[in-house]
Amino acid sequence: MMDSEMNLGMDPVALHASLLALDTHIDIPWPAGPDFFTDSPRDQTGRRVDLPKMRAGGMKAGCFIAYVPQGPRTPEGWEAARSRAHAMLDAINGMTRDADGVETRVASTVDAIEAAHRDGATIIIPAVENGHAMGEDLGLLAAFRAKGARYLTLTHNGHNALADSSNPRKDLGDAETLHGGLSELGRAAVLELNRLGMLVDISHVSAQGGLQAAMLSRTPVLATHSCVRALCDVPRNVDDLMLDALRDCGGMVNITAVPSFVRPGGRADGVTVSDYVDHIDYVVKRCGLAHVGISSDFDGGGGFSGWRDASESGHLTAELVRRGYDAAEIGALWGGNFLRLLRRAEEVADA
Ligand SMILES: [Zn+2]
Repeated sequence: MMDSEMNLGMDPVALHASLLALDTHIDIPWPAGPDFFTDSPRDQTGRRVDLPKMRAGGMKAGCFIAYVPQGPRTPEGWEAARSRAHAMLDAINGMTRDADGVETRVASTVDAIEAAHRDGATIIIPAVENGHAMGEDLGLLAAFRAKGARYLTLTHNGHNALADSSNPRKDLGDAETLHGGLSELGRAAVLELNRLGMLVDISHVSAQGGLQAAMLSRTPVLATHSCVRALCDVPRNVDDLMLDALRDCGGMVNITAVPSFVRPGGRADGVTVSDYVDHIDYVVKRCGLAHVGISSDFDGGGGFSGWRDASESGHLTAELVRRGYDAAEIGALWGGNFLRLLRRAEEVADA
């Protein structure tokens, strides 16, 4: 990288079209929202990621999230969370179709993802955000995996039974810390995720909890949708210590497109693709290119000027080319690194 002259002949549009471009964190409207198969406005009435926008933007794959907001840590709260997670996973599994020469397919192993890509299908990879979805029942993780989930984000905003959050919820009675990082149950959940071949996502987790997960997990952990704190100092972003831990365990951070995580106080119309790629450059310089990737958090707060929805994804590739990254490096950033982690999780699960 950084030898821009070598890139003078590279056509970013052709390059982008050739990639298995994968977004590691996309929310879905819930409980109701526009159909995934139909183009809709990108405002609150529509969605920033649907099949027409993915195809227009050269996006081949996405992790679609069964997201559970934090609620009371009570049997009733856990039951509501469990049932919502299952219903959302069912909805994500329903985002498949094969009509008029256009196919979408749920794929939850690397072999299946690569086969779907060879067949020209748009690829749906399910995942679960917030360990609150399993309450105190470790057995639910296998049920989520059975519905295709490939990662669990351990927390959201607010502490849960597994871990402390980077953003405690005073309205739910949270103190600054509840467990001092991971709870006993949280440690057991990390090992169960390893056994199931699901990745451990430390986005939203407290700094202490993230470091503990990175040390404990037998599979590289990752932040599926976070920026770096050195460039935007908010608790939700990963600090240098965590970046080094992610590098040392073979993991990664997938930079997110939420404006206020990209730039302090950032708003959608004031944040640019260049601001976003600054976060990629930072991790590349500090940790190496193998430890960084791309996520949008579209339909969950992500999106800014130049990358407002999935149809504009090629703008990122154009900026990466402009900064001197070569085709192999851009492919690694756009999903290759994440697939390496998924493959590793499969090997650990099988071992
Ligand atoms: Zn999130």
